[in-house]
Amino acid sequence: YQGKRGTADIVIYSGTGVAHSHQWLVVQAELRHALERDELVLHYQPKVNLPDGAVIALEALVRWEHPERGLLPPGVFLPAAEHSGLIVPLTEWVLRRALTDQLGWTAAGQSWAVSVNVSVRNLEVAGFPDLVAALLAETGTPPERLVLEVTETALAGDVERVERVLAQVAALGVGLSVDDFGAGFTSLSHLRGQPVAEIKIDRKFVADVTHDPQSRAIVRSVIELAHGLGSRVTAEGVETAEVYRWLIDAGCDEAQGYLIGRPVPWPQVDAGIFGLPGEMSEATMIEGMSR
Ligand code: C2E
Ligand code: MG
Ligand code: MG
Ligand code: MG
Repeated sequence: YQGKRGTADIVIYSGTGVAHSHQWLVVQAELRHALERDELVLHYQPKVNLPDGAVIALEALVRWEHPERGLLPPGVFLPAAEHSGLIVPLTEWVLRRALTDQLGWTAAGQSWAVSVNVSVRNLEVAGFPDLVAALLAETGTPPERLVLEVTETALAGDVERVERVLAQVAALGVGLSVDDFGAGFTSLSHLRGQPVAEIKIDRKFVADVTHDPQSRAIVRSVIELAHGLGSRVTAEGVETAEVYRWLIDAGCDEAQGYLIGRPVPWPQVDAGIFGLPGEMSEATMIEGMSR
């Protein structure tokens, strides 16, 4: 293994078919060290209000600064973390770091909330709400400045248990967000009774709204569904000004995507990228992106 660290063996990080292979165990051991050696970093992607473009939150996205492979995206190591149970200390690390960073931008005069992605595995571990409460107390972050993003498929797991844990977390005053909505096969009944503050429309629909009538119909329906449930709705994966304008017309509340900002360490987040839609031009956006 040591001798063949090329790009090809990245494959071993994903998929469950190799769960018991030697490489899988090596990844788990490496990840454990990564946590001990503080090799994980958080990048933040802004989420803006529509139509004014004001930044309202930053989403924490974890990366691994691997000593040999460079910066690794979460898709490459999260499956191993989830499989091994390392997702529990990893999430604790992410939450503590994110809440601490949130205090940093608050001190810098920004009222942005912070969104943290949690795995369904986290919701199955006893004491998750206590951990969140303890970290809020430890950092002194107001609970309403924290949003936890849970993927739609998480709601299809041990539903009763997950519902109970989500209700306990919501009772702390923390916002709950359903991530990648539309990508899974979750029954809508799982949304009923959940204290959902936000629904994020999966980017595969968002990307196609300008040219695919079915994607348009789906996005419009999710916006209506979210509003009917009393939730805010966010479009993820906004990459063009055309899509951005379409979302404003469709009544979407918030947007996120490479057009607005890529994930970066928080001091590099640009808070002043967008003006009102009338003032926006493709050129100013491109300029904003490269600033
Ligand atoms: P997600 O929470 O849905 O995050 C959005 C992903 O899409 C991020 O990928 C982001 O970089 C990417 N993205 C954002 N805007 C655009 C766009 O305009 N176009 C395209 N093509 N992509 C865009 P990333 O950082 O690789 O994260 C992938 C997933 O890994 C996340 O999806 C989330 O489910 C998971 N993840 C990330 N960080 C954490 C974490 O700390 N804990 C847990 N449990 N999961 C995490
Ligand atoms: Mg997310
Ligand atoms: Mg998502
Ligand atoms: Mg709005």
